[in-house]
Amino acid sequence: MSANCIFCKIVAGEIPATKVYEDADVLAFMDIGPVVKGHTLVIPKQHFDPLTATPEPLLAQLMAVVKKIAAAQLSGLRADGVNVMQANGAAAGQVVPHLHFHVIPRFVTDGHRWNWAAKKYDDPAELQRLAAAIKAAVT
Ligand code: 5GP
Ligand code: ZN
Repeated sequence: MSANCIFCKIVAGEIPATKVYEDADVLAFMDIGPVVKGHTLVIPKQHFDPLTATPEPLLAQLMAVVKKIAAAQLSGLRADGVNVMQANGAAAGQVVPHLHFHVIPRFVTDGHRWNWAAKKYDDPAELQRLAAAIKAAVT
């Protein structure tokens, strides 16, 4: 448990949350501020953050629960689709620094739009330069 971490406090039962799934390592609960109603968070019970510092076997467990919740939103809420989101760092919009996956049910009528503004590279060389930098850093 990490001191002053709101999600660790939810795991410890110190802050209430509406749980929808729980096992030994993973907890899923309703987001208090849903982007779309039914918005659910999937977290490890142990404090990890960010994604890149989280052990791969645990990430596999988390993704299996993300799949379960997405399936439950499709069947239980009759959602038409599901978005899965995950933020790392304040620059990426992360507010709670305890790894979490947002599982958001989508309905053709929900009216929600992501601010997904596609940009263009200055030229093909820029794209290649960035690709080369990522490729060289892949471990
Ligand atoms: P982030 O921006 O860090 O990716 O997302 C944090 C999420 O946690 C937000 O969607 C926010 O609504 C949710 N959240 C913050 N505090 C609480 C809380 O005390 N309880 C619950 N259930 N969700 C919370
Ligand atoms: Zn925590």
